[in-house]
Amino acid sequence: MIRERNPRSTPAPLSTLVAKLIDWAYAQGYQLTAGELYRPSEQAALNAAKGSGIAHSLHTQRLAVDLQLFKDGTYLTDPRRIDR
Ligand SMILES: [Zn+2]
Repeated sequence: MIRERNPRSTPAPLSTLVAKLIDWAYAQGYQLTAGELYRPSEQAALNAAKGSGIAHSLHTQRLAVDLQLFKDGTYLTDPRRIDR
């Protein structure tokens, strides 16, 4: 029997994917800093009220992580500067 995996009910997939992403980034010569992973729903509601986020953020379900990408000490914010 094959079961489809529900990413909302299994915590392992996101952390596994993030680990692979971090490994890949460093192998490509990038550096990362880690930002927010879990965001309490109360904080998400406050952010939404300020216009800086959404109330039902995936962070509230531990399904999102913020990473900052650097290359040669420069913070990369333009996706066009990221080598694929
Ligand atoms: Zn985020």
